[in-house]
Amino acid sequence: MSDSDRLIGLPPDLGTATLAVRAGQTRGPEGEHNDPIFATSSFVFASAEQAADRFAEREQGNVYSRFTNPTVRAFEQRLAAMEGAAYGIATASGMGAILSLCMATLKSGDHVVAADSLFGSTLTLFSNLLARYGIETTFVPATETTAWQDAMCDRTRLLFVESPTNPMSSVADIQALADIAHAGDALLAVDNCFLTPVLQRPLALGADVVVHSATKYLDGQGRCVGGALVTDRKELRDAVFGFLRTGGPSLSPFNAWIFLNGLETLALRMQAHSASGHAVATWLEQRPEVRRVHYCGLKSHPQHALAQRQQQGFGGLVSFEIDGGQAQSFAFINACRWLSITANFGDAKTTITHPATTTHGRLSPEQRARAGIGDGLLRVSVGLEDLADIIEELSRGLAAASAVAIDVPQRVATA
Ligand SMILES: *Cc1c(COP(=O)(O)O)cnc(C)c1O
Repeated sequence: MSDSDRLIGLPPDLGTATLAVRAGQTRGPEGEHNDPIFATSSFVFASAEQAADRFAEREQGNVYSRFTNPTVRAFEQRLAAMEGAAYGIATASGMGAILSLCMATLKSGDHVVAADSLFGSTLTLFSNLLARYGIETTFVPATETTAWQDAMCDRTRLLFVESPTNPMSSVADIQALADIAHAGDALLAVDNCFLTPVLQRPLALGADVVVHSATKYLDGQGRCVGGALVTDRKELRDAVFGFLRTGGPSLSPFNAWIFLNGLETLALRMQAHSASGHAVATWLEQRPEVRRVHYCGLKSHPQHALAQRQQQGFGGLVSFEIDGGQAQSFAFINACRWLSITANFGDAKTTITHPATTTHGRLSPEQRARAGIGDGLLRVSVGLEDLADIIEELSRGLAAASAVAIDVPQRVATA
C-alpha cells in the first residue's frame, strides 16, 4: 500500500481554514484520528525487486527519511494545499528552504536581485556565501519596482523578496515583481513568513515559489525550527527535492508533527494576531510619545492600498519610533513586566525587541540609517494574550521611556 492510497480524500474548493485542519492527512489500519509520527529513519521493502525499483525511482514510495517520510509529507501536502500549490517540500529550517531553493536554481555566473530589507541570515546567504560560489546579488529597495527592473541583466535567474518587510512593514508589489521576473526568464520567490497563507497567497499573485520559516507562525508556539517551500512548478519541485535528497537539510518527523498540529489553528491564530496587531498599531499612533508607527494596516502607511489589495490581513508585527534613542528604548523594554524580550516573532507570547542592537545590530550605522532603523525604533510581535493587558504593558514602557531625559537637549541645557 503506497502512502497516497491512505490519503483521506477531500472535495475541491475547501477554504484555507478547512485545508489547515484536514489536508494531507493519511489514515492507517488503526483508524487514528490525529496524524501519527513516523519515527523511522528507513523503510523496508517487500522484496529485493521492490528495493531495486524504489532506489531507481521506477516505483514511488519511501526509502529513507532524508528523502521522504510520511509525517513530513503530510505537513508538505497540508501547507501546499493552503498556499494553493501543487507541491510542498519541507526543510530543516527556514534557511534550509532558502538554501535549497538557491542550490536547486542557481549556478556559478548567475545573478540574483533581492530586496535589501531581508531577514539577516538571508542577506548573509546572498551577500557572503553565494558570492563565494560566483553567484552575484544586487540588492534593491523592496518597494521600488523600477529599481528591480533596472537591476535585471541577462544572467538574472532569481528575484527574492519578503513582503511586508521586517521591521518597517514596507509592502512590495508582488504581481509587478512577478512580471519583471518572467519577462527576464527568472523566478520570483516570496518569503511568506510574516503573513502565512492565511493572509497572503503569493502564487496567486504570480510568484513562482513561496518559502517559509515554519519556526514562526506555522508552529505558533515557539517549539521547534523548520521550513518549507511550495510551488506549482514540477521541474522546480524536482530540482529542490534532488538537492534535499543529496544535500540533506530535511525536516525531522517530530518537528513535522508539531507543525501539522500548529497548522490546524493557524487561521484562527492569524486572525487574532492581526486583529490585536491592528489595535495596538492604532493605539500607538494616537499616543503623543510615539513619533511614527510602521504597520501596513494603518491608513497612514505609504503602501496601505497595495497591502489591502494583495493581502487578506495585516499580521501581528508592529514597529514604532519613540522620542529619544537607545536609553529610552531600553527603559521601555525593561519596564515591561511580562512581555518576552526576544527577537523571535510569530509566537502566542507577545515579544518586544530593539532592532538596532539585536536583529540589525550587525549592520553599519549607515546601513541602519538607510533602512530607517534608528535607536528609538521598537518592534512588537503581538501575541494572543488579552489586548488590554498588552496595551497596559506598552503604556508602562512609554511612561518609562518618557521619564529618561533625552541626551542632546540636556547637554545643550548645561552648556
Ligand atoms: C526566521 C526567518 C527565516 C529563517 O528561518 P529559520 O527557521 O530561523 O531558519 C527566514 N525568513 C524570515 C522572514 C524569517 O523571519
